[in-house]
Amino acid sequence: MSFENVKRLVVKTGSALMVDAEGGVRADWLAGLADDVAMLKARGLDVIVVTSGAVAIGRWKLGYGTRVLKIEEKQAAAATGQVWLAHAWLEALAARGIVGAQLLLTPDDTESRRRHLNARATVATLLETGAVPIINENDTVATEELRFGDNDRLAARVAQMASADALVLLSDIDGLYTADPHRDPAARHLPQVTDLTPEILAMAGEARPGYSSGGMVTKLGAARIALGAGCRMAIASGKRMRPLQALEQGARCTWFMPQGSPASARKRWIAGTVEPAGAVVIDDGAVRALGQGKSLLPAGVVGVEGSFERGDAIRVRDKAGREVARGLSAYAAADIARIQGRRSSDIEELLGYRGRDEIIHRDDLAMGPV
Ligand code: GLU
Repeated sequence: MSFENVKRLVVKTGSALMVDAEGGVRADWLAGLADDVAMLKARGLDVIVVTSGAVAIGRWKLGYGTRVLKIEEKQAAAATGQVWLAHAWLEALAARGIVGAQLLLTPDDTESRRRHLNARATVATLLETGAVPIINENDTVATEELRFGDNDRLAARVAQMASADALVLLSDIDGLYTADPHRDPAARHLPQVTDLTPEILAMAGEARPGYSSGGMVTKLGAARIALGAGCRMAIASGKRMRPLQALEQGARCTWFMPQGSPASARKRWIAGTVEPAGAVVIDDGAVRALGQGKSLLPAGVVGVEGSFERGDAIRVRDKAGREVARGLSAYAAADIARIQGRRSSDIEELLGYRGRDEIIHRDDLAMGPV
């Protein structure tokens, strides 16, 4: 079990893999990982990188060394180190003919339905061109209460946002054990997990304080997000060179296997909105088109209710008032009122900007009354 049937992979690397004990990028290791990325891309996979290491690099550049940092010092270190980190990735990818592109995200960009359409569209567009998104948390602006805090969770949210079907967390350990293998010689390695039962969660033990923020607890938190998004996830050792190739060749790791697919999980996520912010009313032709799996275009909309923003979840009703679907609106209510009944090619003239052709893209639609 490795990358069979995988179309879109997110790979996350921890700080201790990216950066040596004195704040230098581990260039040889990174070159090997870039070889792995190039190998998978040559096979047609989309690859997204989530990389830690900004603080680990920046703390040395600013002369902080290993000491415990205050939040604003961490942010200064991140601001400094991120440039080096992104540059190291860019060069490693460019040497293999691959274009890298940086995204710095906050939880709002991936977690709220309201915001995430923008980041999702950017990532999708980059992947279409063959580029590799290189993602980290936007540490310099994230406040303590409002941050991912660790890149395991960020990586799982990115996988969810991008509808990835596999996530690999490269770490200093080769998977989940029944107990901490450093302390308990009887600890057993688990090659596969399908259910995050209380017993499994208990195996993570306590969160480990110290240098890297992501212990086993945060990895299982990431697994919960990934499985909920229909994305399989591996915890694998990044200590060896070419870690993804090693995984394919059967290196030990733990795979967490989801029940559904990313597409079905996304529709459940959309359908699960507690209270949609509003609705659009559509004509019978549009009801039929949606039933055939098509997107909702402005031409089929005859009315709009409520006040909502781009990215909000809304109801889709037929003219009799029946709910036929829910979806994420690519336009605010006020803009829909101006483009309803019109052709997509008129959008720019009507709104003064060129938005999406669809009011709700089919990937963002969950059919049926919910
Ligand atoms: N975003 C942090 C950095 O780049 C790392 C967070 C983590 O290690 O999980 O330094």
